Amino acid sequence: MSIAVDSPQIGSTEACSPEFYTGPTADFFSYQDLLAPEEQQLVAEARAVLERDVRPIVAEHWNNATFPFEIIPTLAALNLVDLCARGNNFLLHGFMTVELARVDASISTFVGVHSGLFAAAIAQLGTDDQRDRYLADAISLRRIGAFALTEPDHGSDVSRNMETTATRTGASWTLNGVKRWIGSGTFAANVLVWARDTADDQIKGFIVSSALQGFTAEKIENKIALRIVQNATITLDNVVVAERDRLPGATSFRDTNRLLTNSRVWVGWQTVGLQFAAYDCALRYALERRQFGKPIASFQLVQEKLVRILENATTSLGTMVRIAQLQQAGTLRPEHAAMAKASASGRMRESVALGRSVLGGNGISTDFGMARVFADAEALFTYEGSYEINTLVVGRAITGISAFQ
Ligand SMILES: Cc1cc2nc3c(=O)[nH]c(=O)nc-3n(C[C@H](O)[C@H](O)[C@H](O)COP(=O)(O)OP(=O)(O)OC[C@H]3O[C@@H](n4cnc5c(N)ncnc54)[C@H](O)[C@@H]3O)c2cc1C
Repeated sequence: MSIAVDSPQIGSTEACSPEFYTGPTADFFSYQDLLAPEEQQLVAEARAVLERDVRPIVAEHWNNATFPFEIIPTLAALNLVDLCARGNNFLLHGFMTVELARVDASISTFVGVHSGLFAAAIAQLGTDDQRDRYLADAISLRRIGAFALTEPDHGSDVSRNMETTATRTGASWTLNGVKRWIGSGTFAANVLVWARDTADDQIKGFIVSSALQGFTAEKIENKIALRIVQNATITLDNVVVAERDRLPGATSFRDTNRLLTNSRVWVGWQTVGLQFAAYDCALRYALERRQFGKPIASFQLVQEKLVRILENATTSLGTMVRIAQLQQAGTLRPEHAAMAKASASGRMRESVALGRSVLGGNGISTDFGMARVFADAEALFTYEGSYEINTLVVGRAITGISAFQ
């Protein structure tokens, strides 16, 4: 195996480095101008902090599949959990998500699950007592939350066929079952567990402390995507939870719709971040890497790839901006979120594959920025409703016929 002689050494970790990163170059149509100047300033500050404190350490943690607990104070200072749980500035939250995912999709996932699924559920579906007891610690990231819906045998069909049960006895509930893929599940202090009430067959939500007897979490090893996220298989063996920790706002799965619709939107924004990352990385590499005596950016086929990534990213961003406007107006429907997530994640998959090919062999080494982006995209394509399920949600909305049951 040989490396072309006329190629300069491209510093491996520089491929997506802060030195290269000069601003929202991938925001080709300047959608960020729709934010107020002070909001743009917040996004710029977040970008600077993430580039300084997070980017330098993520590659190693990704390789080792470890979680960088040392950056939790940095993330807390960005105040993202509050922004998400309050749910009153969707555009700003979207652009903040782009910045996080652009630096690392695992860190973005960690923040998104904790804020959009755990804290937002308590904010929207909980009691005043629950908000008092849990939200302050969640907003400050002092106590991490997780969201446990998926099961080993039920992913796409979990709302229909959930096996985890909750049985009420007096002022408490007994939970039994197994949950799979639970992000931050190995270290979360509290897990929002969804279980089927054995009395009325409806799915209900419970805030479960991981310190409770009968609660065990085992890390899922050997992932090829989002390796920093500590996904767990969680077993609930006669875990007793107090009635005051049941979410009263969730008396059936339908009640979680707003939550899950918003979290699909969040993944749509993440896919924009990954496409921006792919664009940053591929453009930089194409300008530096020389073959046949010229930068590879001078070849027409390489330019076409760069433009295609930019088109995909810009189109996805335009979609997400409109979705944020619908959220803000209170008119977002589940099928809107489903179409945005499916369409943006499909484009993302193409963008990261094109970006990876621009880096040639170096595109498959995690010493360069692109391989992590490429691999992480696979998880985003599947979670928060797979590409296929989200497509069928739209199909059901336009035909009136459900094709997935
Ligand atoms: C990295 C990662 C993090 C995650 N974090 C969490 C978490 O924190 N909490 C949590 O609860 N879950 C989490 N999940 C689970 C995630 O939501 C599920 O993986 C997802 O819902 C898909 O379920 P599944 O993996 O069981 O696939 P399945 O449902 O088994 O689907 C397998 C394939 O079949 C397709 N398929 C299934 N049914 C149909 C149909 N009717 N028509 C057409 N195609 C169909 C799917 O689209 C998919 O391609 C996470 C997953 C990953 C990978």
